[in-house]
Amino acid sequence: MEDNRNDEFDFREVTEDGKEINNDKKEDGKTSGDEKKEFEDVCFVCRRPESKAGKMFHLPNNICICDDCMHRTMDAVSQFDYQNMLNNPGLMNELNKNMGQNFGFFNMDGMNMGGGIPNSQKIRKKSEKHGKATIDIRNIPAPHKIKAKLDEYVIGQDKAKKVMSVAVYNHYKRVATDTMDEIEIEKSNILLLGPTGSGKTYLVKTLARLLDVPLAIADATSLTEAGYIGDDIESVVSKLLAAAGNDVEKTEHGIIFIDEIDKIAKKKNTTSRDVSGESVQQGMLKLLEGSNVEVPVGAGSKNAMVPLATVNTRNILFICGGAFPDLEKIITQRLNKQTSIGFDADLKDKYEDDPNLLTNVTIEDLKKFGMIPEFLGRLPIICTLQALTKDMLVRILKEPRNAILKQYQKLLALDEVDLEFDDSALEAIAEKAMEKDTGARALRAIIEEFMLDIMYEIPKDDNIGRVTITRDYIEGKASPLIEIRGEGPVPKLPQLDTENAQNV
Ligand code: ADP
Repeated sequence: MEDNRNDEFDFREVTEDGKEINNDKKEDGKTSGDEKKEFEDVCFVCRRPESKAGKMFHLPNNICICDDCMHRTMDAVSQFDYQNMLNNPGLMNELNKNMGQNFGFFNMDGMNMGGGIPNSQKIRKKSEKHGKATIDIRNIPAPHKIKAKLDEYVIGQDKAKKVMSVAVYNHYKRVATDTMDEIEIEKSNILLLGPTGSGKTYLVKTLARLLDVPLAIADATSLTEAGYIGDDIESVVSKLLAAAGNDVEKTEHGIIFIDEIDKIAKKKNTTSRDVSGESVQQGMLKLLEGSNVEVPVGAGSKNAMVPLATVNTRNILFICGGAFPDLEKIITQRLNKQTSIGFDADLKDKYEDDPNLLTNVTIEDLKKFGMIPEFLGRLPIICTLQALTKDMLVRILKEPRNAILKQYQKLLALDEVDLEFDDSALEAIAEKAMEKDTGARALRAIIEEFMLDIMYEIPKDDNIGRVTITRDYIEGKASPLIEIRGEGPVPKLPQLDTENAQNV
């Protein structure tokens, strides 16, 4: 067959032993073939060198694609009779003309055919029922149902769960009815206070999952006023858009959780511009209230190459969370001032060691802490999480639907081994976690360390039927109790490495 293939789309084939069939002379006397021989061609898609992948197709811009990848790609676009197409210069020319450039329909970015922009940067089409709310008011679960669901996952924090359930219920009722008449239901953005590890993020995550709405979690510490190094404030909406699979409509009903909100408090006694504190609060006002923002699709920041989508934040529920560590001092001071007058004066220090001091917080305290009044005004619901007690930690270990203990029990059950924890062992774990002062977050780290030995030793012996973790094991004084299948407890145990356990 006559070889009148297009020069740009050069199908220089490579022989089986990896040699290129191309002897164009270069100025320095070397042929480009010589140069190529020094380096193996590498497939642009699977990254295999030609010695492994064999025959390569050469595309413009020194891009090589191995036979396998080329076939796979072409197979994906089965409506094209590609072999015929590639061999047919007339068809190729027609295609090139249509696409405006040489073989331009071949998108190297995502190996997609038929478009310059990868899907991650494309906006999903609006659903058919555009204009109507996607959340049907009849389907919004009542607050008690939301709370009952939350109870399955989140231990304690009853007040917070109640407040959140009502706030979320009202929010989505507002979204669903879309009342913009004379009685406008105000947006119920939430400020969530609570010590670290008390379940703020977990509560919000669980809520979003139960309601099946997209959730974006952002860290206020990384946010700066637009134009400074750091993330723009609007990047939080961009994250939500990504979480909603680039579906703008879904995004507009999602939840944005901004953690560490206490870190953007107004800085005291500063002479320089407060680009990561007060300015961020100022910048967030518009978002919290509801406005149209242009956000980049499929990327963290705006630039010329990224398409933009317009998202209205009016129906996005914003939840801001923070531990507000020094707020306790402010509250204590205020409370002490109150009690130092009159008959209660003798109770001056009674608030000092109260772990739930945050529950007494007022807007005034938050203002004193450095949150600006306009910002607080847009977070009308303030909700405080309790510091976790030992009892709560024990319950967190065993009660939630996906409790850590249940996870380990399931893992060992696959080896047909029962895993039991003495109540006293759970208490010992909770005590260790309390010492770390990081709330429930410490539990997993502690238990993982103890379970490592068990998970390592138990599969060695098929006869083991049950393992019981005791307080003594947690405290490094003894090994766990091992029972052999069909027998009672065995006093002589496999030698477990309890040294590490002691160091926790
Ligand atoms: P923070 O308050 O610092 O945001 P997290 O929500 O990240 O704390 O909590 C850390 C982990 O601790 C969660 O992933 C969750 O497994 C567990 N946890 C914390 N509080 C609770 C709780 N009340 N009930 C069940 N699990 C909890």
